[in-house]
Amino acid sequence: MKPIVAIVGRPNVGKSTLFNRLIQSRQAIVEDLPGVTRDRLYADAEWNGRTITLVDTGGIQLDKDGDTIEAHVTRQAELAIREADVIVFVVDVTQGVTAPDLEVAERLRRVRKPVIVAVNKVENLKREDEALEFWSLGLDQVISVSAEHGMGTGDLMDAIVAALPSAVPEEPEEGGPVRVAVIGRPNVGKSSLVNAILGEERVIVSDVAGTTRDAIDVLVERGEDKFLLVDTAGMRRRAKVEQPVERYSVMRALRAVERAQVVLVVVDATDGVTEQDQRIAGYAHENGKACIVVVNKWDLVEKDDRTMAKKTDEVRARLAFMDYALVHFVSAKTGARVHRLLPLIKEAAANHARRIPTRELNDLVREAYALNPPPSDKGRRLKILFATQPHVSPPGFVFFVNDAELVHFSYKRYLENRLRETYRFEGTPINLYFRTRA
Ligand code: GDP
Ligand code: GDP
Repeated sequence: MKPIVAIVGRPNVGKSTLFNRLIQSRQAIVEDLPGVTRDRLYADAEWNGRTITLVDTGGIQLDKDGDTIEAHVTRQAELAIREADVIVFVVDVTQGVTAPDLEVAERLRRVRKPVIVAVNKVENLKREDEALEFWSLGLDQVISVSAEHGMGTGDLMDAIVAALPSAVPEEPEEGGPVRVAVIGRPNVGKSSLVNAILGEERVIVSDVAGTTRDAIDVLVERGEDKFLLVDTAGMRRRAKVEQPVERYSVMRALRAVERAQVVLVVVDATDGVTEQDQRIAGYAHENGKACIVVVNKWDLVEKDDRTMAKKTDEVRARLAFMDYALVHFVSAKTGARVHRLLPLIKEAAANHARRIPTRELNDLVREAYALNPPPSDKGRRLKILFATQPHVSPPGFVFFVNDAELVHFSYKRYLENRLRETYRFEGTPINLYFRTRA
């Protein structure tokens, strides 16, 4: 599980600039997803071998109506307090310590989480002096940076990594329950869906040891099969208390996704796949999880015998970057087709963990190569010497080749298709890597 580092602070102190600066070291991993809007609120960054997920809370949409700046900051801070492992509190040296800064600091002091003050826009010695004033906030660490010029950001990353909880990898246990996260925009019907699933099955609500904070995992059994719905607490609470729906918590969703093997991305059939849905589905994709797109509220759609095929095409077109995802239509309200979900989840989890024996894999690769040899490139032709699958969850294949530069996208695609035609990988991404072996 990757630790989450939240960047909080007032508008205009330079949070986004800092965020972009900190993730730069890892641009390669933050691939652009075709069809997904560019502005990202979170990204992975790596420093000294630790990978963290940085969240730019400034980008989270909050109600603007009637909000004072202070209320805005407070809510952001609260979101961060709940979900993050380490908080980076960005302040602006050119403005000195402001009243809202004091207010946020007061709240941050009360949580038992490391808080690092990043004093931004420190670009000369005078500012260095002024930055010292921020020690008066009473937080753990004060680091001077200039996000714009990239100064001090290495020190900041050092401080962040030093403050992280120690890494405890969470491997899927053999024979354990399939871990499932249910994510989606507010009001698409996540809680209704969970309740519809729970309505049919034997349910054990448990505070499973090791889960964080107020996350509640629910164990569901059907016959021999066990499923753990991770972090369903937020949904239930919301369903009970009639308060204005809290804005969807990016951090919460990220957490749930990271702990899951299979992610249900719930969308509303009457809206189709929106941009926000694309972004949310992107969490599952980027984390290499198996994915089922659950198109809910199917009861509200007027249908004929072609509607489902047509809607499936629409969903797939909007989520083209994850063409492996399963698409399933349900009505949480009437319960229609809900009973098919657990078997689908089981299948997706099995595919996600599938391991192909080396011999079989190499037979397949040899046959695929003979059937469709790659074209030669400037007189040189790609040769595949050997293939192996060192990873599962998701499956990852390494091809040792004469020259990795000779691998064209289309040939990689061809090999992936052959693998998918031969083995059951529905619902899961698979990764193909090519290494040159001289
Ligand atoms: P956010 O609202 O907190 O995300 O702030 P932004 O990252 O959008 O930055 C707000 C303004 O501060 C922009 O005009 C930036 O160019 C400027 N800014 C950000 N970082 C620095 C810095 O290190 N030095 C200076 N001088 N300006 C900065
Ligand atoms: P969440 O915010 O994603 O957890 O969504 P909720 O489960 O709270 O549902 C939001 C609204 O959609 C509620 O008014 C539900 O009654 C309604 N809803 C949920 N699922 C369905 C469905 O399958 N069909 C219809 N017609 N309404 C639904």
